[in-house]
Amino acid sequence: MKLPPAGRVRGVLAAMSLVMVLVQLLPGAQTAPYDLVIRNARILDGTGSPWFRGAIGIRGDVITRIAPAIEEPATETIDARGQVVAPGFIDIHTHARRGIFEVPTADNYVRQGVTTVIEGPDGSSPLPLGAFLAKLAATPRSVNIGSFVGQGSIRETVIGPANRAATVDERAKMRAIVEQAMKDGAFGLSTGLFYVPGTFTPTDEVIDLAAVAGRFGGIHISHMRDEASRVLDSVEETIAIGENGHLPTQVTHHKIIGRPNWGRSVETLKLVDAARARGVDATIDQYPYTASSTSIQSALLPAWALEGSRAEQLSRLTDPSSRAKIRAETIRLITTERGGGDPRNVALASCQWDQTLAGKNLADVAALRGLPATVEGAADATLWIVERGGCQGIFHAIDETDLERILRHPATMIASDGEVPIFGRASPHPRSYGTFARVLAVYVRERNTLTLADAVRRMSAFPAQRLGLHDRGVLRPGMKADLVIFEPDRVRDTATFERPHQYAEGFTIVITNGTIVYRDGQMTAARPGVVLYGPGINPPR
Ligand SMILES: [Zn+2]
Repeated sequence: MKLPPAGRVRGVLAAMSLVMVLVQLLPGAQTAPYDLVIRNARILDGTGSPWFRGAIGIRGDVITRIAPAIEEPATETIDARGQVVAPGFIDIHTHARRGIFEVPTADNYVRQGVTTVIEGPDGSSPLPLGAFLAKLAATPRSVNIGSFVGQGSIRETVIGPANRAATVDERAKMRAIVEQAMKDGAFGLSTGLFYVPGTFTPTDEVIDLAAVAGRFGGIHISHMRDEASRVLDSVEETIAIGENGHLPTQVTHHKIIGRPNWGRSVETLKLVDAARARGVDATIDQYPYTASSTSIQSALLPAWALEGSRAEQLSRLTDPSSRAKIRAETIRLITTERGGGDPRNVALASCQWDQTLAGKNLADVAALRGLPATVEGAADATLWIVERGGCQGIFHAIDETDLERILRHPATMIASDGEVPIFGRASPHPRSYGTFARVLAVYVRERNTLTLADAVRRMSAFPAQRLGLHDRGVLRPGMKADLVIFEPDRVRDTATFERPHQYAEGFTIVITNGTIVYRDGQMTAARPGVVLYGPGINPPR
């Protein structure tokens, strides 16, 4: 065999590689097949624009092409005829650490199109945050996950559950923890000023910490101090934290609790509008249910009763005079606030110390205790529950009119406030299984509160923008391939308060980072979810 001189070989190779580069630059030409092509889709790109018909080509974990048609070969092809393809939904408020390590497939979320869940809301996050994110990174999952750092958790670590302002020294320590968490990849600072110990925090102390998160590009997101009689003050406070801390601020799971307060969303939304008009980057998220869920003790006891250790809390319930004061406040909270005015409006979601109580309401518990099914009997049942160790509760005290008004607001995105339930265990709020499906079924298809394109925007591009996730939330070449395919006429939530452990329907395929994680009723074996890091990550990833 006659070999050409080395110089000629190099010349031929150079010419060949030049041809290959040219081929790759030609529009539409591909030298390698796509890993995945979705054809004939109604593409809702997440921006809020109406759908257009097209095909999406994916290579690896990236959308590489969107075109009217893609005819080139692909390892796998999906015909999405008649279905909508949208960006995978991004849930900015979840308690996914409840369950994600036991159920890393997060079936409840994936089966309603969610591909990203954000933890650490309500002022509560694991600390140090970096260790938590590392643990998540070592746990193969179906969904992407990221986290805020919680102001309440930081305060608990530095000050404990004490009802007082921080000292100068303590403030410096807390600022240092926020800074480290931002460098570890937090998306910002969450507050839970409703809860102990967040509720003991003066606003200026919150601003001091929020400003640190803001310097690293993070946001502030707040479970407000009061969502009932003082909801207007609380929205003002949330706006002030953003305005004076110089960072975006979000009213999370916005709602108006308690019949006497219904209708006040007119005023809360005006406050948000006024803030935005003067340049404050204030936004909202919401879940589509007229019941909330939190612990019985947080909802139905005054905060001062929960200060300090468990022994201190119990001694307040033993002392006749403080017990009488707590009971009077519990009666008020059942009558006009989270109790919804009727013991049957408070249900128990789960009680660690007695699983059989899950699903029972306060009237049932009162009857079990030989108490009348009155508000007073329910208050006594409540104090008994707290003495036994407390329960997670569900509280029916929100008006549908407020819900829809908040939902229609252009600065409102969708978030579940849910968790990753163990299928069949306890009686959790159905929001964990149904939030995104319910918006699409009830508020898009049945009531026309939102258009489909706008609802999808509030589940994808909008939360992505809020979090600074510039490579997700929109379908466009170069973006990460998180996608959901669903049947717009069939999509619906099936989880109810009576039977919460039921998956959403109408979602056919869910894709995380280019890999199918759910298809035709089954989770696949793939675990392509990644940990997402906020804007302050050091060194940047
Ligand atoms: Zn909350």
